[in-house]
Amino acid sequence: MENRLDRIKKQLHAQKYKLTPQREATVRVLLENEADHLSAEDVYLLVKEKAPEIGLATVYRTLELLTELKVVDKINFGDGVSRYDLRREGAEHFHHHLVCIECGAVDEIQEDLLEDVEKIVEERWRFKIKDHRLTFHGICHRCQDKKASEQKQA
Ligand SMILES: [Zn+2]
Ligand SMILES: [Zn+2]
Repeated sequence: MENRLDRIKKQLHAQKYKLTPQREATVRVLLENEADHLSAEDVYLLVKEKAPEIGLATVYRTLELLTELKVVDKINFGDGVSRYDLRREGAEHFHHHLVCIECGAVDEIQEDLLEDVEKIVEERWRFKIKDHRLTFHGICHRCQDKKASEQKQA
């Protein structure tokens, strides 16, 4: 965690930004909740526990800056709420998401899996791909298991 914080600090420095205490508190919350997909409000409430003096506007500006510097990705799962997702270290592309339409869980796929698709797109449309966003909507394995065991009982 300290190592990653350090590297994010260097990323900011490289772009002439300082890791101020407010920014650090925000980055720490993102690191501590890496598996979650927090909205600006979620981040704010967690940052407030560490640094009560921070306002929502500051957290919001920090998240925008981190998005600009590609430390985080901003994502929307169709509910109109922007969520912030730490970019995995060394990841060239944004990871994929599996959104369950029954329970709302969001799982992640870290493997790229899209090499073949990207090759076709680059060749056929002569489009140089820099990144992608892929969200699958469906029913997660937990909900499938739940349904299966409910059917067995019925
Ligand atoms: Zn994610
Ligand atoms: Zn589910």
